Amino acid sequence: MATASASHAYKNFINGEWVAPRSGKTLENRNPGNTDELIGIFPLSSREDVDVAVSAAKEAYKTWRLIPAPKRAEILFRAVELLVKRKEEFSRDMTREMGKVLAETRGDVQEAIDMTYYMAGEGRRLFGQTTPSELPNKFAMSLRQSIGVCGLITPWNFPMAIPAWKMMPALVCGNTLVIKPAEDTPLSTYHLVEMLSEAGLPPGVVNLVGGDGPDAGAPLTKHADVPVISFTGSTSTGRIIAETCAPTFKHYSLEMGGKNIILVMDDANLDLAVDGAIWGGFGTTGQRCTAASRVGIHKSVYKEFVGRFVERAAKLRVGNGLDPSVEMGPCINEQQLQTVMSYVEIGVKEGAKLLTGGHRLAGGELAKGWFHEPTVFGDCQPKMRVAQEEIFGPVVSLIPIDGLEQGIAVANGVPYGLSASIYTRDVNHAFAAMRDLYTGIVYVNAPTIGAETHLPFGGTKQTGNGHREAAVAAIDFFTEWKSVYIDYSDKLQRAQIDNN
Ligand code: NAD
Repeated sequence: MATASASHAYKNFINGEWVAPRSGKTLENRNPGNTDELIGIFPLSSREDVDVAVSAAKEAYKTWRLIPAPKRAEILFRAVELLVKRKEEFSRDMTREMGKVLAETRGDVQEAIDMTYYMAGEGRRLFGQTTPSELPNKFAMSLRQSIGVCGLITPWNFPMAIPAWKMMPALVCGNTLVIKPAEDTPLSTYHLVEMLSEAGLPPGVVNLVGGDGPDAGAPLTKHADVPVISFTGSTSTGRIIAETCAPTFKHYSLEMGGKNIILVMDDANLDLAVDGAIWGGFGTTGQRCTAASRVGIHKSVYKEFVGRFVERAAKLRVGNGLDPSVEMGPCINEQQLQTVMSYVEIGVKEGAKLLTGGHRLAGGELAKGWFHEPTVFGDCQPKMRVAQEEIFGPVVSLIPIDGLEQGIAVANGVPYGLSASIYTRDVNHAFAAMRDLYTGIVYVNAPTIGAETHLPFGGTKQTGNGHREAAVAAIDFFTEWKSVYIDYSDKLQRAQIDNN
């Protein structure tokens, strides 16, 4: 059987074959925790490669859309069974290519598994509606129809989960696709595509083109034969994609940045809130779109919370994610590390109090990777840049608040709207927060991270453009509604006219 790699050199997957990029260009994928370790050499594809992949997907769409959805779903079920068997191997590979600790990469692969089971189940649902007609002897219903070739563009922080969030609903709905994974973490997407191929997916239904944003991603978003673009990444790239897709009225869903907050009220269980803020702020080295990069703390418990939180943050063990004692891995690359370091300077300059961390970690083995200390800024003003902008690293800004009303104003006072959380034992506060936090996700007595695949996922304002991923919401994005009327009266019946 053909495989994705030969001695670490990976190829594109087009029309059921592993093929070298026509561009002839490649990219080294190295472990961010130890850059001496080469994970593999991956294609840096060009527009030509994208064109070939899109033609294969366009051709395959002619037959794939007509395969009954329960039969399409059976292939997904077979693929997920293969994925379950190889979960540990793929999790270890993901820690090597992305850096996050093994417990978290196991979670990432599990999320892909959950999503695949969920969407395979949709093969026997994909429900529409039947509804009475306003006219006699007339039948009315709505059906979902597939759309065509989907272009999927994904980031590096969830290297298997996010590709699965997009691929599985696209496929079960009868679309074909071309995926362009993030340049820093292509291997996990390769693993996913290999499982689908082994499960018997027909050639051309899934195509994988490795490469960077401008040369491989952009041609996909511009392609006339790609009516759907699903993107997850930064808000700045999302804006470019929106501008590219709008003139030709493509369907495009954008899942972008976040500046999420945990609110700690005066009646909160502080032990629980500290646990949540540590996991929400420093899990995945703060490189989650839902990371709790801000904590708003009621003034009456501020001192106590800050003391405990800083003590815990300073003790986090940073290192190679394959070491079971390590709690936090590296930043994804040198550029991301530089961004974190520049925000530390910004925070200090604008008067935030550096309570712990603030430096690159480069002693001993850590010198080979992009490690940074867990960093906490205290006494932050809500409008400071460290409390407004997405840093995407292990930096948490603590903001004193007077009470619920001000806490919600602070929470909502950022350009993003992905996730927010409140720690309180007051049911009135919990319900008011649920109602007034203007985000796509709200947690009560849990941190801002931890989405489940059967609920809609996404955010408001500059986090998204109104679509949601996961759950039935994903099915809504990857299909179009068609309303069908069947008149069996044998005469002309005019709606709104003949029965009024
Ligand atoms: P990024 O925007 O730099 O890249 C994302 C993807 O877009 C990559 O595959 C990249 O190659 C591609 N790309 C870049 N320029 C492009 C262009 N001009 N045309 C087409 N494609 C292009 O983001 P990143 O650094 O990989 O990921 C981090 C960002 O992703 C953060 O802002 C984070 O909040 C966000 N994110 C959001 C969610 C969510 O669901 N809201 C989930 C995870 C990550």
